This record gives sequence, structure tokens and C-alpha cells, in this order.
Amino acid sequence: MGQYVAPLRDMQFVLHELLHVADELKQLPKHADIDADIINQVLEEGGKFTSEVLFPLNHSGDREGCKLDTNTHEVTPPKGFKAAYEQYVAAGWPSLTCDPEYGGQGLPMVVQNSFYEMLNASNQAWTMYPGLSHGAYECLHEHGTDEQKALYLPKLVSGEWTGTMCLTEAHCGTDLGLLRSKAEPQGDGSYKITGSKIFISAGEHDMAQNILHLVLARLPDAPAGTKGISLFIVPKFLPNADGSIGARNPIFCGALEEKMGIHGNATCQMNIDGAIGWMIGEPNKGLNAMFVMMNAARLGVGMQSLGLTEVAYQNALIYAKDRLQMRSLTGAKEASKPADPIIVHPDVRRMLLTAKAYAEGGRAFSSYVALQIDKELNHPDEAIRAEAVDEVALLTPIIKAFLTDNGWISTSEAMQVYGGHGFISEWGMEQYVRDSRINMIYEGTNTIQSLDLLGRKILLDNGNKLRKFGEKIRAFIEENGTDEAMSEFITPLADLAEKVQKLTMEIGMKAFQNPDEVGAAAVPYLRVVGHLIYAYFFAQMAKIALAKQDGGDNFYKSKLATARFYFGRLLPETAMLIRQARSGSANLMALDAELF
Ligand SMILES: Cc1cc2nc3c(=O)[nH]c(=O)nc-3n(C[C@H](O)[C@H](O)[C@H](O)COP(=O)(O)OP(=O)(O)OC[C@H]3O[C@@H](n4cnc5c(N)ncnc54)[C@H](O)[C@@H]3O)c2cc1C
Repeated sequence: MGQYVAPLRDMQFVLHELLHVADELKQLPKHADIDADIINQVLEEGGKFTSEVLFPLNHSGDREGCKLDTNTHEVTPPKGFKAAYEQYVAAGWPSLTCDPEYGGQGLPMVVQNSFYEMLNASNQAWTMYPGLSHGAYECLHEHGTDEQKALYLPKLVSGEWTGTMCLTEAHCGTDLGLLRSKAEPQGDGSYKITGSKIFISAGEHDMAQNILHLVLARLPDAPAGTKGISLFIVPKFLPNADGSIGARNPIFCGALEEKMGIHGNATCQMNIDGAIGWMIGEPNKGLNAMFVMMNAARLGVGMQSLGLTEVAYQNALIYAKDRLQMRSLTGAKEASKPADPIIVHPDVRRMLLTAKAYAEGGRAFSSYVALQIDKELNHPDEAIRAEAVDEVALLTPIIKAFLTDNGWISTSEAMQVYGGHGFISEWGMEQYVRDSRINMIYEGTNTIQSLDLLGRKILLDNGNKLRKFGEKIRAFIEENGTDEAMSEFITPLADLAEKVQKLTMEIGMKAFQNPDEVGAAAVPYLRVVGHLIYAYFFAQMAKIALAKQDGGDNFYKSKLATARFYFGRLLPETAMLIRQARSGSANLMALDAELF
């Protein structure tokens, strides 16, 4: 069933040649002793684990799905998932970037980011079990009390317990202000939580001893809307003070959702019937605390689609070199065979290069953002930390939406390379298309990400964060503007940077008159900014490749060809997107709802 080989060379290119991660980490006292060798070793081990242990369970997990025993409310994930999780825990993978105070290894996020790409490429459904735990760890680490941290963090760090995020209810997904779950104070510091949550990923399973549910609910006197939401930790089994497992808490899986993809992950309806929980953070400020988990999850979802893009590309490439159909338009390329391999055909190459370019662009961009997170967390200079905070805030919705839209495009193109065989489940390609579709929906739909970017992160901020990031792009343009070899990249990059600036101002002006203008422009706007960022990274990668292409290493030739394809074939989409973004809200809002 296909293959997955972690793209170590490309990861190392991004980390060491493009981002000079080891040098950057030297500035952070916590990571000063991390060098390129350590990073490479972790990636190599990660590559082995993901391709040898997780990838073989991907297709079988999709076929088999999860099972709920309605009498016991217990959920059994597909065969092999639990054993793979035990191996993951035994190897210490859950603790990779966690705080050494709680048993973590304290490695940088930028290393974990590449590992997450591998995990998701090999098995997205499996990865969601430990993936959500990490978000719960981050939330508790930032907002938990000392007692909560001492009790829960070592268990999450070791992987003995996993975590979930319980936000969604049947009547409220995007609009969390509508949520109804209740939390009654018990007078002893605990709360009794009652409510019903839906779509809870990894909500019940037998892979870990305990599950820590992070649940949003309302206190009895809470104000309406988002200002009246608090966050609670609701363990499946109540922990004893020594960390051992106590009584079963009444938070049960009532049903499993039947769904389009990620069948190996248990998507649970959770009934909470007076379960005991403890508040995390302050009353009515639960969304604030939950945002730590949501932001981590948004970056994680981007990595899900990056992984799927890569694995779909790898398999489509093998198929395209093997499958014989028709002759090349320029004459037979493999005359001894009855037909040429389909990789000779220009449009098959377009499909392959689309996935290749989106994988390589996404890898460069997401690694850059992960490095900014390391700076945000650990740089000794406050000004640099603040700059990193702003960049991560600006770029998170783009990682979530642009990478997942591109994942959908890429998996679909990769499936198309197989012709009819792509549609047949035996080859595994249709699973990637199905699995990738949810990534555009959960963790805030891509529309919501685009509103967050344009409305909150750009217009409400008077464009300051975007301007600061734009200065980095401008500096690169100025530095390379006179290099003739770079002009094929610098000219379109500079052109798009100027257009984005004008477009932002134009939408901002229109939004003063009519707020619907933001909603009407946001989705194409995010895609345009996503392309600006990819063009910036592809131009930097092309510069490195131009300098090294004559050294006999074909990697750089391939990188340069991919950059040229990106600028020639994918970036031009921005012309259409800018026209769409500028076309205004009138063509969307003219029709009364009853006239549709
Ligand atoms: C497989 C799966 C796993 C999930 N895992 C979890 C989980 O672990 N924990 C959890 O809490 N939730 C989870 N979810 C829920 C997921 O996050 C929500 O489905 C998602 O946030 C959208 O909410 P909704 O489905 O209620 O859609 P709605 O909010 O009803 O939205 C419907 C449509 O309206 C659009 N829309 C809504 N408001 C606006 C607006 N202001 N402007 C423009 N368009 C708007 C949306 O973009 C969408 O297209 C999961 C969902 C699925 C399917």
C-alpha cells in the first residue's frame, strides 16, 4: 500500500541551509547546545518510527475505523494503534519539546514541527491521539495552577495520559458564545460539569490509562456570550493525589460520528453527566486559556495537510514513473516499452509539481513559524520576543488555512495522476483526499481563519504586524534586486508585495463604510498573502540553489526547477484572487435570502 519515506534531505535543507536553525538556537540560552547533528538524529529516528510503525497502520486504520461498546461506553481504535502508541511512549516521543521540570526533553519546537509533518504523513488519524495531548499540555503549562501542573503535566509529558479539547456543542461550533454546558461550584474548589459535546477528537479510547478533557462550560452567574465561558479540566478517571487513577468520572462517549475520513480517529459525542472538574485560569476567561490550545492545534492542522501533501506526492511520483500510457508528444522516450511512463506528459508533471511545490513551500514556511515560536518562548531579548509573538499571531491563520487548502488541491492532483486507480481505495490515494478535507473545517473553518487574518490581525492592528513582516520581504528584495540571476524571482515577488499593500489599504477603506467588505474579501485575501509568503521563501530557496547548482548535487537543480514552476504556474493565481477580493460585497449580498 504505497510508501512513506521522511523527506530528510529537504527538511535538513530548510532547517540548516535556509533557516540556519542551529545558529538561531544558539541565541536562545535554553537551546544553545542544540546543534545540527542532534537535530538530524532526531529527524532520522522520527523518520524510522513513522514509516516503519505508523504508516503500515494508515490504510488498515481507515478501513477498520473505531468501535464503541454502547454498554461500557468504551472505544477501541483500529488494530495496532494501541501497540504503536506504546512504542511512541516508550521511545519518549511525547516529551520531545516539553519542559524538563515535568520530565520533558526541552527540545525546540522547530524540531517537533518536522516530526509532526512525518507523523501526519504516515498516519493523520493516529497522530490526533497524541497531537491533542500536546495542546492540552501547552494550555495547562501556561494557565494551570502549580498543583494542577504538578499533578497533570508529568502524565501528559510521559504520554501515560492523553488530552482532548471539548468546545463544540450541537448548536454551536464557530460561535462558542452560544455554548450551554454548565459548571456548578461544589464549595471545595471543584465543579460539577453537565452538558453535551459533539465532534470530540480522541474523546474516548483505550490507548492511554486516562484522558484529560479540557471542557468549556458556563458558571451559574456567567454573563451571556464569549465573556461568560470558563475552562475546566475533567479527567476520565479522577486522579488521586499521588497521580494514581481513582473513580470513573461521568464523562462518557455516547456515540461515534460516521464520517468522510480520518476513520482511525474516534470522533466522539461526549455526555457529561455531573462530572467533576477543576477550573483552569480565571472564571469567565476560559476562551483566553483555551486559545493556547487552539493556536497550537491550528499550527498542528497545517502540519496535517503538509504531511498529506508530501505522502500523496511521493506515491504519485512512483506511480507516474511506472505507469505506461501513450507516447510522449515529442516522440517515444522509452521505445523498448509498449508506451511511455506517464511522467513524460506535461500535465502529469503539472500535477506532480503542484504537490511538490506546495510541500516544499509549506515546509519552509511552517519551519520558519516554528522557529519564531522558539524565539517567542525563549529569546532573552524582550523586543525580539515581542516581534516573534506578533509574527506568530499574524502567520498562524495562514498556516492553518493556506496549507490545508493546498493540501486539498495537492492530494486531489496526486489522486488524478493515478487516473481511475486513484479513485479505487486499494491504492490509498482516495484516503488522502478524504482525510485532508477535514483540515479545512476543524479548528475554525478556513473562512474563520481568513476573517481572523484580515479583520483582527491586520485591519484592527492598522496593518502593523503585516508591515513589519513586509519589511523583511522588502529587505530581501533590496538585497537581491540587482542580481540578474534572481530577477525571475525578485520581480514577481516585489510586484506582489506592492499589490498586497494596495489591496490591504483598499479593503480597509471600504470596510469603514461597510463591514461586509471584510467578509467578502477575506478568503481570496488570505490566499494572496499566503502566496506572497511562499514566493518569499521560494525566492530565498532559489538563491541558495542558484549558488550551489553547479556542484553536481541534483537536489539543487530540483529545488530550482520547483521554484521556477511555482513562480510560473502557481503564483499567477494571485491575479485572479486579487480581482475576486476587489470585486466587493455587492455581488454577494444583492440577493435577498428568500430569492436564492
Ligand atoms: C472530524 C471532526 C473532528 C472535530 N474535532 C473537534 C474537537 O476535538 N473538539 C471540538 O471542540 N470540536 C471539534 N470539531 C468541531 C469543529 O471544530 C467544528 O465543526 C468547526 O469549528 C465548525 O463548526 P460547525 O461545524 O458548528 O459549523 P458552523 O459554525 O455552523 O459553520 C457553518 C458554516 O458557516 C460558516 N460561518 C460561520 N460563522 C461565520 C461567519 N461569522 N462568517 C463567515 N462564515 C461563517 C462556517 O465557516 C461554515 O462554513 C471537529 C469536527 C469534526 C467534523
